[in-house]
Amino acid sequence: MDNILEVSGLAKRYPSFAVDNLSFSLPEGCVTGFIGANGAGKTTTIRAILGLARKDAGKIKVFGLDADRHGRAIRDRIGIVMDGSYFYDELSMKEMKSIIAPAYSQWSDSDYRAYMDRFGLDPKQKISTLSSGMKMKFALVLALSHRAELLIMDEPTSGLDPLVRSQFLEIIMDYMKNGGRGVFFSSHIISDLDKVADMLILIDSGKIVFQRSRDELLDAFRTVKGNAAQLNEDTRSLIRSLKVSPFGFTGLTDRAEELKKKMPEALLERASLEDIMLAYIGGGNDENR
Ligand code: ATP
Repeated sequence: MDNILEVSGLAKRYPSFAVDNLSFSLPEGCVTGFIGANGAGKTTTIRAILGLARKDAGKIKVFGLDADRHGRAIRDRIGIVMDGSYFYDELSMKEMKSIIAPAYSQWSDSDYRAYMDRFGLDPKQKISTLSSGMKMKFALVLALSHRAELLIMDEPTSGLDPLVRSQFLEIIMDYMKNGGRGVFFSSHIISDLDKVADMLILIDSGKIVFQRSRDELLDAFRTVKGNAAQLNEDTRSLIRSLKVSPFGFTGLTDRAEELKKKMPEALLERASLEDIMLAYIGGGNDENR
């Protein structure tokens, strides 16, 4: 499987924040969720990848092409969904489309009309009167209508109601049915990632914490509950996000077999992606804080 996007040693430094030495890659055929707490550096990373903010270091390759040298060819093949601030408020969606469409060699007006219908958008409506969710939908319509091979989206589902979110996820799954494509999107909505993401990249304080497949993560982790009297130095070292209360303890482990041998009475259950994310970004064990 080829990599559709490769990021190596990426750095973008602001006076009081930096993403530094980020390296990761997106295999073709994968939906990759980019997750992290508020202010972790997701938007900064996406902007640096897209050349919307000048990177301070690093190499970006898209479709195997160096982004510094082939920016134009790459832009023709990627769809970007960021907040809708790059639209002209005084235009209708149809007028905005007429400005954007000629920039793309693969633009399809019939796809455009089909997606506008599917999202219930009226092309004659003025952009200034769209809700933030409608703007996001319109941005997605434009990205899909030029038959992009890679979609890069910054929190595309955040302003959408549950019904539209589920439509959006269906569209992403449909989109991936054609081979040779990839999706990279940041999100706080773990349930969305649970539905569509094959791969997850976690960023914290400007650094990549992990890049792992969703199935691998779900296989690796178990929630653990038990009686606090069973805890000792040895067993504590096997548990992340340990919370101890008068009623017992809860936590998360990626060493379930070992723990089961040492604490046969402990209750081990499948963890959710949310449990796993919180264990990484929500801080350490109670007593280490
Ligand atoms: P959220 O989930 O809240 O959208 P994020 O992970 O996308 O957060 P970023 O928007 O990348 O986070 O912001 C990371 C940090 O970089 C923040 O502390 C922010 O203030 C800072 N930052 C972002 N853009 C700039 C800028 N143009 N100049 C200075 N600092 C910036």
